[in-house]
Amino acid sequence: MEVPCVRVRPQDGERTRAALADRGLVHDGYEITVEGGWLYVPVSDAEGVGAEYDVTTHDLPVREGQTLPADLLGFEPSYERIGTIAIVDEDDEDRARAIADAIVESDLPLDSVVNRASKVKGELRVRDWEVLAGGTETIHREYGFEYALDLATVYFSPRLATERHRVTEQTEAGENALDLFAGVGPFVIPFAARGAEAVGVDLNPAAVTFMRENAERNGVAERVTAIEGDVRELSGYDDWADRLVMNLPHSADAFLETAVRLAGDDCTLHYYDIQSDDDPFGPGEAAIRAAAEPEYDVTVENRHVVRSYAPHEENVCLDVRLTR
Ligand code: SAM
Repeated sequence: MEVPCVRVRPQDGERTRAALADRGLVHDGYEITVEGGWLYVPVSDAEGVGAEYDVTTHDLPVREGQTLPADLLGFEPSYERIGTIAIVDEDDEDRARAIADAIVESDLPLDSVVNRASKVKGELRVRDWEVLAGGTETIHREYGFEYALDLATVYFSPRLATERHRVTEQTEAGENALDLFAGVGPFVIPFAARGAEAVGVDLNPAAVTFMRENAERNGVAERVTAIEGDVRELSGYDDWADRLVMNLPHSADAFLETAVRLAGDDCTLHYYDIQSDDDPFGPGEAAIRAAAEPEYDVTVENRHVVRSYAPHEENVCLDVRLTR
């Protein structure tokens, strides 16, 4: 059957498979196959894999003895995975129900199916869900870390895994790293695992409870401080941060004054934005300069496209060095 897969040279196969498996993206229903000098790793969420991989489709054999949703449905359904939850985006009630039944009856390690029932909304960025099977709580694996979460009460997107990894890899032991909008902890926990003193702030009490639980679960609780509240009211951390993450793309500019207050003498800021593709970085850079200059020298070290957000809209990250 033609299925989405990542294509790599065989010598890179195991490293690629392991990296994708770490993020729960390897589709267990199909065989990894070598053909014509390429190795094809089947993936469950082609869009979530990330731009650094060569994503294609290929005719791969079904793994012996496995029953897949497509076997029960007669077509390959499209869904995203968070832990043991399959997320579908279906308008037709009967089709959604048939897909949910097939996913749960299949041999895939998925016990729940939810349908998107709204956009992410409000300050807490939580979506409404129609639960078609199981529930909304799960444990998601990403780059070797485990995150407990409940989709009904917190924001989480597995599609940002590669981006979070790009940022967390830059972190060094001993630095002070602060995530202004930390969710269940997918930045602060890897920061702490690399030896940073990590602080995560979130307005959502449920996210902060999960962040604490996840710090324990990943063995980094002694280096993670999870704080509930509006980051604009955060006290005790002025001039503190060597690294700041601002992942609230539609309104981060409103928090730049706070970011500058929290930044230390030499601070790297990871600023997320969603802008039109004709000038995706300009408005963010202007806003950062307006908030930080002349107190800081502002150097944009990296202009990075995270993913396409909508037609003609890009989700981008500016990595910016602030030097006092
Ligand atoms: N960084 C996390 C991640 O990658 O999964 C979560 C990012 S989510 C887009 C934004 C988060 O910011 C939400 O969890 C929301 O509750 C939180 N938030 C929104 N306004 C806030 C504020 N004024 N102060 C602190 N947190 C806020």
